[in-house]
Amino acid sequence: MQILLVLLALTAALIIFMLWRTARFTKKDGEDLPPLDVSDRVPDQEIADHLAAVIRCATVSNADPEKVDWSEFDRLHRVLEELYPAVHRTMEKEIIGTHNLLFRWKGSDPDAKPVALLAHQDVVPVGDVSAWKYPPFSGTDDGEVIWGRGACDMKNHLVMVMDACERLINEGYVPERDIYLCFGQNEEVGCVPAMTGADLIASTLRDRGITLDLVLDEGGAIVSGDTLGIKQKFAMIGVVEKGFADYRITAHEKGGHSARPPKHTGLGKLGAAAVRLEKAKKPLRLIPPVREMLIRLAPYMPQFILRFLTANIDICEGLLLKVLSLSPLMNAMVSTTYALTQAQGSEQDNVLPKDAWLGVNSRILPGEDIDGVRKFIEKTVDDPSLEVTITKAHQVQNISPHDTKGFELLTELTGRYYPGTLVAPYQQFGGTDSRNYYIVCDNVYRFMPFCIGSGDDTLGAHNIDEHMPKDGLGRSVCFMMDFIKEYKGEA
Ligand SMILES: [Zn+2]
Repeated sequence: MQILLVLLALTAALIIFMLWRTARFTKKDGEDLPPLDVSDRVPDQEIADHLAAVIRCATVSNADPEKVDWSEFDRLHRVLEELYPAVHRTMEKEIIGTHNLLFRWKGSDPDAKPVALLAHQDVVPVGDVSAWKYPPFSGTDDGEVIWGRGACDMKNHLVMVMDACERLINEGYVPERDIYLCFGQNEEVGCVPAMTGADLIASTLRDRGITLDLVLDEGGAIVSGDTLGIKQKFAMIGVVEKGFADYRITAHEKGGHSARPPKHTGLGKLGAAAVRLEKAKKPLRLIPPVREMLIRLAPYMPQFILRFLTANIDICEGLLLKVLSLSPLMNAMVSTTYALTQAQGSEQDNVLPKDAWLGVNSRILPGEDIDGVRKFIEKTVDDPSLEVTITKAHQVQNISPHDTKGFELLTELTGRYYPGTLVAPYQQFGGTDSRNYYIVCDNVYRFMPFCIGSGDDTLGAHNIDEHMPKDGLGRSVCFMMDFIKEYKGEA
């Protein structure tokens, strides 16, 4: 009896302790302050005009280089020459491979490790042209917004980097460390064929014995906290990318006439496999940047359970993971995902399938690997007659640290230009060129200092009506100018 009372008292004490921690952890919503006005320093309109000019080059990439209109890339290079004469006068410019651009802005200190600012020149196809509000390569300026393919992915970022450098050169600024501008030609097709895009630029740098102090590429941005129920905006700085792999589960059968079917056709077996795969418990894990993101953002979240569990993450990690896995967005942060995306049976309704297959697109958490995921699928579908193969995959396991000078400066500048914005590291689901640069750099960050509105408003990236608001373009250029000037390196 006494033991029971002691246990009860201890449990009550623990709960009180956890509630006390939660109360201390909980932050009041701060104000969502207006961003800094820089219209006298860098007018939005000037950057908008540059963006429109760059959008007019239809630099659509394709995994088959024969299908690319390379003259549009040549045109883009000419437009950049016209828009940015100081950059072209001051920096060494090289074409790597066929159309990748590599600029080197020589620094005053040859011992300081260089920085690389990345962007991709290419864009995705426009889809149904007639569905667009304005022609996709018109760069139409409607007074508020610039319209066109590449407006937010990522000719905005490319123009921002070029404008920042052009303006600094014109101010007489000389960087301390070398600044490289690396503009790949085929990010949107994942640098296919291999060694033709960012992978080629990065290995060229490596072969020259260059290691970089920091790489900055597209990825995270400043977004509204709406999707998480947070009042403030938050800046998501990508420090890691999930791996990507396509698997095919194939049922090899004899085929034949559908009037005399076996008990299970290949397609039937695949159906059962699909159910098992979707139902299977997937391992849940908090990788360090996701843990840090939760610790930074959870205090502002309205859900008590998330604040309580995160405030007591050292005691409740398992339960927290289970709660997170209930939301598709957060589940993708804490586990490898398996999406059944494609299927094929026979070619005709009265023919039994011979080699039916199911396609699984998987996004892999760092710490797990491509073949490990294949084995998981094999074990889960639990049918030796089914074959599981990998059709396409890429993965880097690297996680960039979030306690570096670079991350700190990105945080500070976000506070300067977008006051009241929360900053957190995050795990990106999609791939970027930057994953190729881990061979020359440990500190690879994916962040565009642009406001992209609420979670669902992706400004039409990879969709029709891609656009970029003009308001804020000058601010992003100021951000980048300060970044170049104030980055002091890790050493
Ligand atoms: Zn992009």
